[in-house]
Amino acid sequence: MNRSVCAALALCACAAVPAVAQNVDTVLVNGKILTVDNQFSTREALAIRDGKIAATGSTADVRKLAGADTRVIDLEGRTVVPGLIDSHLHAIRAALSFSTEVNWIGASSLAEALARIRDAARTMKPGAWLIVAGGWNVQQFKENRRPTQAELAAAAPGNPVYVQLGYGWAMLTPAAARALNITSEADLPAGGRFEKDASGKPTGAVTGGQGAIVALFDRLPRPTFDQQVEGTRLFFRELNRLGLTGVVDPGGNNLAPEDYQALFKVWRDGQMSVRVAYTLCGQTPGSEFEELKNWTALLPTGFGDEMLRFNGLGERITAAMNNNDRPSESDKDRYYQIVKWAADRGMSLTMHWGQDASVDQLLSIFERVNKEVPITNLRWSIAHLNNASVRSLERMKALGVGWTVQDAMYFGGDQFVQQSGAEAARRVPPVVTAGRLGVAIGAGTDAHRVASYNPFTALQWFLDGKTVAGTAIRGPEETPSRADALRLYTLGSAWFSRDEQKRGSLEAGKFADLAVLSKDFMTVPVQEIGSIESVLTMVGGKVVFTAAPYQQFEGR
Ligand SMILES: [Zn+2]
Repeated sequence: MNRSVCAALALCACAAVPAVAQNVDTVLVNGKILTVDNQFSTREALAIRDGKIAATGSTADVRKLAGADTRVIDLEGRTVVPGLIDSHLHAIRAALSFSTEVNWIGASSLAEALARIRDAARTMKPGAWLIVAGGWNVQQFKENRRPTQAELAAAAPGNPVYVQLGYGWAMLTPAAARALNITSEADLPAGGRFEKDASGKPTGAVTGGQGAIVALFDRLPRPTFDQQVEGTRLFFRELNRLGLTGVVDPGGNNLAPEDYQALFKVWRDGQMSVRVAYTLCGQTPGSEFEELKNWTALLPTGFGDEMLRFNGLGERITAAMNNNDRPSESDKDRYYQIVKWAADRGMSLTMHWGQDASVDQLLSIFERVNKEVPITNLRWSIAHLNNASVRSLERMKALGVGWTVQDAMYFGGDQFVQQSGAEAARRVPPVVTAGRLGVAIGAGTDAHRVASYNPFTALQWFLDGKTVAGTAIRGPEETPSRADALRLYTLGSAWFSRDEQKRGSLEAGKFADLAVLSKDFMTVPVQEIGSIESVLTMVGGKVVFTAAPYQQFEGR
């Protein structure tokens, strides 16, 4: 053996030493790990080093990577999924008030909802505002009706109470109306009206367009900064409890640039337990372009780190094009100027659009821009569009425009059937067709004003097509398999923040973002999927949530 071969061997031996000496930090063994790789492989075990997945394989093989100081988590046969990612969750806004609002999400009766008001009246400061900002629906209650003013006032006699339903109705108790100095309709925001009962008597509720309800909500007292920070931490932990480790946040109503400070503080303090990619909405009708230029002058798309990242514009670019099925030529031209400017800068954007019948207005603008500046690699997307036609999906595919799909039909399906008929509802939303056409699809909820943020509610709905009232409205031809539904909620959603190479599946080299589930997502009866929770959630290899039997790992 000559000297150089000796030297090379010595070098190899040296280089191999650190790998042997450096054991992995954590192993999860004896489980059913749904990797969501290309083949949807299942593995028994997984090893983590430095926040990333070092290996997956059999329990015996993965145990070989462990040393004396490696943490061993015995899954005892439990199912592990990649951390779920909601591709359209108004998380930043929901978080601000999570420590101060009352939540009706998942309450199955009005009696239970009212009991939550009573509990809050007892536990919150005397006289505190009790605010239900949305996330519920009449059909979820077995009484199948809204609360009356008298019921709310009786539940919390010493507190002003405000209950909002979607963006069309808000009930105020007399104490709440007094606190806001509302004595006649003239005191309401433009477009707001008092709801009247059959005999013409005011019910105490305010109705009107979205603008009126948004403006009314803006009059409510805001949580203090400390409450916002606390709410943000608690809300992220609540998402972790449900297996979520990532969200793509689309801004939204009642969320101004200054409202991002609580999130930024949680990020600076190193307390993020959910990875957030956020976009910015235009705020002031007519001045959106100037605003967006100013806010993003030093904020390129992708700026940030793995916990918090700027992800471009949306979901509302201009007020004039928001929920407007008949925009004027000048509305469209102003919109075009902004999105062309975004394309020039390589920005991502996401756009809220409701109806397929009018989406040509939007797609024509995107196609016009694409001829001048290719947008096919910019990860633009359309949110909602539940009744997307094949033709629209083909146009989106050609533009590289993705589609974020929410469980809007869970709350809204019964109304959709009334308006459009049972036959049309069978294909809403057409995720199987979109998948076949190759459109990038992310799953999510649109919480928390118009939906619950619970991903397992949405996953069950993807599979059974049932509304909250229990009516099955979707046909099997647009019902994904369990594997495909899980893929939409993980890898599918990761695409929208350009993260599909880093997370969304459990493969070597990716972040150790995962959730150990309370039940097996693949085999539990479909009607039980909605009740699945996480018993251990990790983000970047760090445990961010535990329940029995894993509480000893909390915070480690
Ligand atoms: Zn939207």
